[in-house]
Amino acid sequence: MIYLKSLPTFEYFSPQSLKEACSFLKAHENGAKIVAGGTDLLIDMKYRKVTPRYLVGLRTLPELSRVTFGDQEGLRIGAMVTHQEIMDGPIINEKFKSIALACSQVGTPQIRNMGTVGGNVCNAAPSADSVPPLMAYSATVTIAGAESDRVLPLEEMFIGPGENCLKAGEILAEIRVPVAPPHTGAVYVRLPARTGKDIAAVGVAVLITLDPTSGACNDVKIVLGAVAPTPIRSRKAEAALNGEKPGEDLINRAALLSADEAKPISDVRSSLDYRTEMVRVLTGQALNQALAIARAS
Ligand SMILES: Cc1cc2nc3c(=O)[nH]c(=O)nc-3n(C[C@H](O)[C@H](O)[C@H](O)COP(=O)(O)OP(=O)(O)OC[C@H]3O[C@@H](n4cnc5c(N)ncnc54)[C@H](O)[C@@H]3O)c2cc1C
Repeated sequence: MIYLKSLPTFEYFSPQSLKEACSFLKAHENGAKIVAGGTDLLIDMKYRKVTPRYLVGLRTLPELSRVTFGDQEGLRIGAMVTHQEIMDGPIINEKFKSIALACSQVGTPQIRNMGTVGGNVCNAAPSADSVPPLMAYSATVTIAGAESDRVLPLEEMFIGPGENCLKAGEILAEIRVPVAPPHTGAVYVRLPARTGKDIAAVGVAVLITLDPTSGACNDVKIVLGAVAPTPIRSRKAEAALNGEKPGEDLINRAALLSADEAKPISDVRSSLDYRTEMVRVLTGQALNQALAIARAS
């Protein structure tokens, strides 16, 4: 594939409302694409993987750049919120630390200041850093359409590498993250491929809620990134932990189950065997870290 320095010719459309943006996308189904920060899209355009006639910018829609929080409704993150804004957000750092940490590990300051969480989700890379911790928190997505909107669990967004479930004329508007119960610990750990600035070769998010009386796991979510065609839940490992009081043996067994559930490939970033082993190691680390937070809270 040849990388050209120049972008293909396109026209830029700046909508005045979300509905106008959806209608424009629907009317130009095969010729228009949303541009958020452009950190994925413009590279694809330079490679001529995509050559849209129109780019639809969303910067004119302030509702997509907001972060709000309420004890009842939880955290609402507009699709155009950047990784840097999430990483710096006081409420996200206080109540949803694993999400802030994941965004702090995306690329470089330049990428974090341009790249958005909506773009990270919609680009549907299996390695997208913001996705595993959001999935572990059971986040939902609000999708705006020309005629109607819909809400679905974030994990249903992903169909395959680079493929999401959005239909013609649909735009990801917002991500909602419910407040976790007390005695919850959540973490995200990742293995960069070559340097700390690299895209993740493996990412593991864990969320554990403990029963304060018995110390058993009331709820466990384990989400694996970069080791399957989409980010995946490690359901067998979750089931092994749910209802149990976690000790060293159980954590080791859960980590092995996660490694077994991962379906990695060998590519330029890592081999299949190394990724599988690192899922085991990182899942064990993430479980221990999340447990320590849950026990201390
Ligand atoms: C040097 C470099 C390093 C990187 N490092 C990392 C990393 O460490 N971790 C990581 O996860 N990613 C990394 N990335 C990838 C990229 O920066 C992120 O995926 C970023 O979040 C993409 O967001 P964006 O706003 O730039 O999306 P864009 O490039 O604008 O859009 C990406 C795709 O999503 C679609 N889209 C965007 N917003 C919406 C929306 N609201 N509704 C519907 N469709 C939409 C676009 O049409 C396009 O197809 C890196 C990229 C580069 C160039």
